[in-house]
Amino acid sequence: QEGGNVKVVVRVRRHVKREIERGAECLIRMDPHTQRTTLLVPNDTDPANARSNSRKIYEEKSFTFDKSFWSHDPTSSHYADQSAIYRSFGEEFLDHNFAGYHTCIFAYGQTGSGKSYTMMGTPEAPGLIPRTCQELFHRIESDPTPNTTYNVHVSYLEIYNEHVRDLLASRPSSSGGQPKDPAAYYLKIRESPADGVYIQGLTDVAVRSYADISRLFRIGDANRTTAATKMNDSSSRSHAVFTIHLKQIQHSMTTDSVIERSARMRLVDLAGSERAKATEATGQRLVEGGKINKSLTTLGRVIAALADPKRCAAFASGKPSKRSVAGETVVPYRDSVLTWLLKDSLGGNSKTAMVACIAPSDYDETLSTLRYASQAKMIRTRATVNQDAVS
Ligand code: ADP
Ligand code: MG
Repeated sequence: QEGGNVKVVVRVRRHVKREIERGAECLIRMDPHTQRTTLLVPNDTDPANARSNSRKIYEEKSFTFDKSFWSHDPTSSHYADQSAIYRSFGEEFLDHNFAGYHTCIFAYGQTGSGKSYTMMGTPEAPGLIPRTCQELFHRIESDPTPNTTYNVHVSYLEIYNEHVRDLLASRPSSSGGQPKDPAAYYLKIRESPADGVYIQGLTDVAVRSYADISRLFRIGDANRTTAATKMNDSSSRSHAVFTIHLKQIQHSMTTDSVIERSARMRLVDLAGSERAKATEATGQRLVEGGKINKSLTTLGRVIAALADPKRCAAFASGKPSKRSVAGETVVPYRDSVLTWLLKDSLGGNSKTAMVACIAPSDYDETLSTLRYASQAKMIRTRATVNQDAVS
């Protein structure tokens, strides 16, 4: 068993067209040596700012992460492109999977901050998910020993409004019309002592090559897009979870024994974090009740409970906390579909990383994302090699 903190990295994207058009300035600084990220908060109440636009006064807020990725300016010597992100921790997490550990990488941040770009990317600049899958098959195909059999399955789901939708399920063709009841496609989340938390009836596809997987990306993303046009901006409201199951069956010639290693990798593209602000709900936000995302607010509560210093201290000393036994610091995993599904990934048997994505010119949302990310750094998980001797 191996205890470790959730790895937290931050990535700032470049300016998009609309920011360039309004002459937005970059409010982020990153120090490649210390991995500190600094946010410049314009202090508009300062009289000096009111007098002159050219000399703004800023308040600096600094945070240290495991890694700060500067993806703002491609001409910079420490510019982090898609492959830099993959090499920095995607590769490491794939190593963990081959070693038999469950892993999870999730992207957090406001809508438009670069979560989908980081996780899925574009055909020209593929992100963590396609790179991981490509490298997974590359490793399997280049294994020179005949003693290991590999089994890879993937699933792809979306959580929208506390409903689970299977993004790989075959649906009736458009000529057959839309289903009368969309609930016909909602899947149930279950938990059993033997299987842990799982989604009942979720399509789990066996894949033999990277080409198989990239076909599934297209099906899954098309299913997500269909919903997006119907429900208007669903991708900012929904969580997408791509899961890879890797099973390795190793036959030892010397001892004639068979060992099975089963590891799961979850790659999660969360809903826009601006949806989490239930507690800051103004009258306006309360009216637009649909803007508040239960899974995201619960994720915040789960992270806060797991990051509780008392819990962390008990964890570090190796002693189970009496408080948690007494139910005082119970983590509210089961209060939302997302946190229930990610229960193990967040506070249990998994090596986990969070990518906090930030926009370069939005201090309000960025400050809240950086604070959230600092809290996530406190969380410790306990990963175990998932291995069984079969014979
Ligand atoms: P989110 O999924 O968080 O809503 P997106 O990933 O869709 O945000 O990114 C918003 C826009 O910014 C997209 O047009 C995307 O291509 C672009 N973008 C995001 N991150 C980067 C980056 N690191 N480099 C270049 N363009 C980026
Ligand atoms: Mg997105």
